Amino acid sequence: MKAHDGMYIGGAWRPAVGTDTITVLNPADEQPVGQVPAGTAQDIDAAVRAAREAFPAWAATPPAERGALIGALRDQLVARKDEIAETVTAELGSPLPFSEMVHAGVPILVSGSYAELAATYSFEEKIGNSTVYMEPVGVVGAITPWNYPLHQIVNKVAPALAAGCTVVLKPAEDTPLTAQLFAEAAHDAGIPAGVFNLVTGLGPVAGQALAEHEGVDLVSFTGSTAVGKQIGATAGAAVKRVALELGGKSANVILPSADLTKAVKAGVANVMSNSGQTCSAWTRMLVDSARYDEAVSLAAEAAAKYGSRIGPVVNAKQQARVRGYIDKGVEEGARVVAGGSEAPREQGYFVQPTVFADVTPEMTIAQEEIFGPVVSIIRYEDEDDALRIANGTVYGLAGAVWAADDAEAIAFARRMDTGQVDINGGSFNPLAPFGGYKQSGVGRELGPHGLAEYLQTKSLQF
Ligand code: NAP
Ligand code: MG
Repeated sequence: MKAHDGMYIGGAWRPAVGTDTITVLNPADEQPVGQVPAGTAQDIDAAVRAAREAFPAWAATPPAERGALIGALRDQLVARKDEIAETVTAELGSPLPFSEMVHAGVPILVSGSYAELAATYSFEEKIGNSTVYMEPVGVVGAITPWNYPLHQIVNKVAPALAAGCTVVLKPAEDTPLTAQLFAEAAHDAGIPAGVFNLVTGLGPVAGQALAEHEGVDLVSFTGSTAVGKQIGATAGAAVKRVALELGGKSANVILPSADLTKAVKAGVANVMSNSGQTCSAWTRMLVDSARYDEAVSLAAEAAAKYGSRIGPVVNAKQQARVRGYIDKGVEEGARVVAGGSEAPREQGYFVQPTVFADVTPEMTIAQEEIFGPVVSIIRYEDEDDALRIANGTVYGLAGAVWAADDAEAIAFARRMDTGQVDINGGSFNPLAPFGGYKQSGVGRELGPHGLAEYLQTKSLQF
């Protein structure tokens, strides 16, 4: 696997200030696939300076021109799609077809959407005797996780560039090679020097230095709620804009009128894809008492089919963490009907696709984000009970509702405390705002709402 031994700062690959490195492992076989520099506060400082310097000219570039460059970036991602998929498979472990379709495919859609939005968005508005200008916030510090390595980067960088902001990215330590590929794509697309900068490194070192840097105007973070709270506090103290995309514990609500087989199968597939490492995964399946046992056997059967098709989780720590949650579920009285905590292979960080029945809403596995291939099936008595359970966590990122007709599902979805709901298996929309209610976060990504995060208003009165 190709790896750069420098940082992409000010339009060039520059040697890192320090000598520490990060070794990237393939979670499927635990073998090293590359090595990147571990950045320090000094690397971050150099990158933020480059971004500051590039900001005035980029902010003044007509939006349609910014859009054309984002379109060129999209084309570079298209040209590299096989390399991107292979790289994500090597450092995240996801099966190659999934890497091709989702990890490489979705960022192409999203960058394409911002190429168009930059050119068509209204950066000016008339309100009464005022003209309101939407202006870029400034320098963005983007901190991303490993679960969708390129998607998480593009979700931040594409709208930031469309808005006229410049960016310093600190990607996850587990998946820096994909981030380096993105930097290459940005370079070859002709994104001007300093508009996009990359510093690889560790969260508590490079990530923290970026979040704390006084030259950063907006911090956009995706990852764990624990780190998100810290970043929110740091940004708050400095009166900086902040966007937090944190964890989830989404409910898949199967109403009594729904097609049970379809809903259960889709629910299991949703959790198992990417080995359960999706913040919006529907990890709690809610089924009415009358059809509970039927749902449990359907889910167990569906999960068993994933057996050898599922990829590993990202690293040894996550594997131990997920297996620990499975043990905890058993301890608290839930019943394993598929999978279990035993590691299915000697090598690689694999976890068995696991389904729990007899899960009660207050159990740890029904409350905390597991981030692994684990589904909990919870019984409800009536609709109000289902709603209470669905809303009964600190999270509110996503969810699903299934019913005989959309109207019934919509009525339920409107009562859910969550930012995104799929109705009867509705498909992914790269323009729909994505983000959390409650502790799932602050702010939205994707589409015009995602673009608005990087803008601030200036009103002129006449
Ligand atoms: P994390 O630590 O929150 O990592 C997210 C990003 O923040 C990474 O780039 C990380 O760097 C960085 N970071 C860590 N500590 C930081 C600090 N003090 N200041 C600034 N940046 C910091 O998440 P994780 O450890 O990879 O995963 C832990 C759990 O987070 C998962 O089990 C899951 O529950 C949740 N998670 C959620 C999402 C989501 O999309 N909502 C994504 C991934 C994980 P390093 O890579 O060096 O740690
Ligand atoms: Mg971490």
